[in-house]
Amino acid sequence: MKKDVLIIGGGISGVQSALDLAEKGYEVVLVDKSPSIGGNMVKLDKTFPTNDCSICISAPKMVEASRNENITILTYSEVKEMIGSAGGFDVKIWKRTKYVDPDICTGCGDCETACPVEVPSEFEQELSDRKAIYVEFPQSVPLTYTIDYDNCVGCAACERVCDAGAINFLDTSQVIDLEVGSIIVATGYQMMQPDEWREEYGYGKYPNVLNAMEYERLLSASGPTGGKVLKRSDGKPPESVAWIQCVGSRCKQKGMPYCSRVCCMYSTKQASISKGERDSHRPGCRHGR
Ligand SMILES: Cc1cc2nc3c(=O)[nH]c(=O)nc-3n(C[C@H](O)[C@H](O)[C@H](O)COP(=O)(O)OP(=O)(O)OC[C@H]3O[C@@H](n4cnc5c(N)ncnc54)[C@H](O)[C@@H]3O)c2cc1C
Ligand code: SF4
Ligand code: SF4
Ligand code: SF4
Repeated sequence: MKKDVLIIGGGISGVQSALDLAEKGYEVVLVDKSPSIGGNMVKLDKTFPTNDCSICISAPKMVEASRNENITILTYSEVKEMIGSAGGFDVKIWKRTKYVDPDICTGCGDCETACPVEVPSEFEQELSDRKAIYVEFPQSVPLTYTIDYDNCVGCAACERVCDAGAINFLDTSQVIDLEVGSIIVATGYQMMQPDEWREEYGYGKYPNVLNAMEYERLLSASGPTGGKVLKRSDGKPPESVAWIQCVGSRCKQKGMPYCSRVCCMYSTKQASISKGERDSHRPGCRHGR
């Protein structure tokens, strides 16, 4: 493949960069290591400063990118090698197989229902389970199912119920050679696992101590509790909630020395939504959430 720009990371930054470049006539390859583009923003309930529904902002952009003829999306893919300099890069991209043919899969979900294997869902921050054949979230782009090879037990129940014949256990991963002039790195962030603060703050020790992304999934109407904040200890609503700021940030000893610059704002957002203000921010939401 020969394209103008490679974008590594298909979160909101990568998707918006791809759309902007495509609009100016550049040919773009958008690579994401996950089965779907979307990144972290699609996991959020609402987004500050407007408290608009996060997936309502992200999903149309993701679909637009997938339909734009100047944008090629490679999911479940990672850059393995890169040589060159600005103006001319030779890149090798490893595209893992999903064992499901994206051109045939209709996204009907019959395979998921038939699959007997349940594992913690990464998208739901392990607060609920997914199957070994799955889509990360309902608005995934592409909406192609993926077999999680590490957890699949090879029972072939999915293949038996797939009327479209989309499942191919013999499919293999590919290495794609790509020539590009420019590269944008938009690989975003990963949540820190605050194990080091186990004693200090009780994360991992007390079930009702959550990290902020876990709390976003509790707030989300499409999340494991249908948008209800419920305690993990007994499934009941909490009487009060406290937010602990700066955990893992601004800490040279046990975390990152810099300020993350978002947690003040998202914890204020989470507190205000939790206080019941969420209904007053709903008017324009197409999903009725
Ligand atoms: C709890 C919480 C609440 C938040 N609330 C808000 C809010 O209300 N409003 C707001 O504006 N912001 C909020 N933010 C911040 C917001 O989530 C980020 O600013 C935004 O999602 C960053 O988007 P991104 O595209 O830069 O990165 P990401 O969303 O992290 O996307 C990066 C993408 O790159 C992919 N990737 C990573 N490494 C590789 C690799 N090596 N190869 C290929 N692909 C790779 C990932 O799979 C991912 O899809 C919140 C953040 C948190 C943690
Ligand atoms: S793999 Fe087959 S059964 Fe599963 S969603 Fe795709 S078409 Fe449906
Ligand atoms: S073959 Fe794997 S993915 Fe398919 S149903 Fe069995 S365990 Fe699930
Ligand atoms: S954004 Fe606020 S809570 Fe987050 S590290 Fe910076 S000062 Fe602390």
